[in-house]
Order: sequence, then structure tokens, then C-alpha cells
Amino acid sequence: MEKSKLAVGCDVINLILGAFLFISPWLFAFAPGAESWNAWIAGAVIAILSIAALSAFAEWEEWLNLIVDVPGSEPTALKRSYSIASAPASSPRFSIAVTHVQGGPGSTTLHAMKEGATLSCIGPQGFFTRAANSTLPSLLIATGTGVTPMRSMLQAALAAGPLPAPMWLLFGARREVDVIYSGEMEALARRDPAFRFMPTLSQPSEAWVGLRGYVQTHIQELWAELSSLGGAPHAYICGLERMVGSVREILRTELGLPRQQVHSERYD
Ligand SMILES: Cc1cc2nc3c(=O)[nH]c(=O)nc-3n(C[C@H](O)[C@H](O)[C@H](O)COP(=O)(O)OP(=O)(O)OC[C@H]3O[C@@H](n4cnc5c(N)ncnc54)[C@H](O)[C@@H]3O)c2cc1C
Repeated sequence: MEKSKLAVGCDVINLILGAFLFISPWLFAFAPGAESWNAWIAGAVIAILSIAALSAFAEWEEWLNLIVDVPGSEPTALKRSYSIASAPASSPRFSIAVTHVQGGPGSTTLHAMKEGATLSCIGPQGFFTRAANSTLPSLLIATGTGVTPMRSMLQAALAAGPLPAPMWLLFGARREVDVIYSGEMEALARRDPAFRFMPTLSQPSEAWVGLRGYVQTHIQELWAELSSLGGAPHAYICGLERMVGSVREILRTELGLPRQQVHSERYD
């Protein structure tokens, strides 16, 4: 997909912060009764905070809204959110993966679109991100297309060089065919031993030799193993509410992890 049609939502935030950055010293300097040096110092502090916020917001972009025209629906233009599956890059191209929800107007229309069709988008935006150069161990937990932001995080981390800490992906799906990006993930795991790819299937074939069952089944054991390697691991969870809620419950309540170590995004 080309990014050329994006009305970049974060730009609005950046614009407001940028305006703050520019006018804050002046506002303070000319405030009635202001002691000029104090006013300039206060203005400078606000300007510095604006720069910090500006650079932070520049990184926090991970999903966007597609405007999907569904003839006959009311309204005809539906807004549906999709995570960006590719790494943040200077290229205007990005990729997404859409699950076809039976009877869902947005995903059905997207699946029926022909190659070369154009769409409008709003975004990107969002806070479910991981710093590409993070040195903290990470356990990424996803089901279905919830793996897409994980793919983006992984590509970004690997583009920054060999992984400085373990980055493990536990990916839940029903059957072998549902494990999207499997070939790519296996190749990445061979390339960098700090990356471990662990698909777990709830309805595997007889021949399946990997993990079985829901992602929830494996969290405690994997977390113990990852923690034993050192550092305070962070968990990143993405998928439908039922899975996200129950994995959060295991991590936060049963394992007692603080909020800062558990990051999540829900699709419904
Ligand atoms: C921040 C965010 C990021 C998202 N990223 C993605 C993404 O990368 N890929 C993606 O396929 N969807 C993603 N979604 C879900 C997406 O926005 C739509 O909800 C989905 O495509 C269904 O839209 P619909 O119009 O076809 O069906 P609707 O009639 O709007 O939804 C019907 C039901 O489908 C279920 N549903 C929603 N998403 C999924 C899914 N992925 N798999 C199975 N069931 C689902 C929900 O229970 C929902 O109530 C994301 C949602 C959010 C909020």
C-alpha cells in the first residue's frame, strides 16, 4: 500500500506541539507583569517539553484507519482500524494483514478489492510500540492478525542490528495454514538466535510437532524461562479481547507484573 493518501493523524498532534514550541517563549515574555528572565526560562522549559513530546509522538504510530466504501451500508464509508505489519521506514509503502470476518462489512469489502484499487486512510497513530533499540527481553504474544504489530516491531529491531536481548514470539492460531508469516519468521529465527518463534496450534494436524493449545497454556513457563536469562522482560500482547484479557490476567495478577511491563492492543 502507498502512504500517499494518508492524512497523517499524528501530524495534527505534532502541529499543535510545534505551535506550542514556537509561541511559548513569546507568550511568557510578554505576559503582563512577567519578570522577563523568569518568563523566558519558563517559556524555554515548555519549549523543551514540547520537543520531548514531539519526538515521542513521532515514534508512536502503529495502526491506521482505512476508509472502506461499502455500497448499501449506512453510512457507506466505514472506518476500520488495521495495524501496520511492516517496520517504520522512510519508504512510503507499508503493509497490513486483514482477517476476513464472516459477515463483517469492512473486512469482506477489503478482501474483495482488486489489486491497484485505492483507499483513503487516517493515521497512523497508536501507542502499542516497542523501541527498536530496546535492550530489554521481550515476549510477544499474538493470535491471528494480532501478529502484525509484532512483525513490525521485529523487523524494526532486526534492522537496528543483531538483537541485544531475547525477543520471543508466541503466536496462537488454529491450524498450520493459519500461521501467517511462518516462513519469514522461521528464517528470521535462523538468522538471529535471540529471536525465537513459537507457533502454538489449537487444532493441529497429527503431524504437528510444535506447541499445542492456546497461548495462555504456555505463558507461565515461557515467562519463567525468559526471566531466568536476566533483565526485566516486557510483554506485548495483541489480538481479540478474550485472549488479551486472559493473558493480561495471568501476567498482572498471577505473576504480579507491574503495569509498565505489560503492553497490549485489542482488536475488538
Ligand atoms: C487498533 C486496532 C487495530 C486493528 N488491526 C487489525 C489488523 O491488523 N488486522 C485485522 O484483521 N483486524 C484488525 N482490527 C480489527 C478491524 O478494525 C475490524 O474490526 C475487523 O476487520 C472487522 O471489521 P468488519 O467490518 O469486517 O466486521 P465488524 O462487523 O465491524 O466486526 C465483527 C466482529 O468481528 C470480530 N473481529 C474484529 N477483528 C477481528 C479479527 N482480526 N479476527 C477475528 N475477528 C475479528 C469482532 O469481534 C467484531 O465484533 C484492528 C482493530 C483495532 C481497534
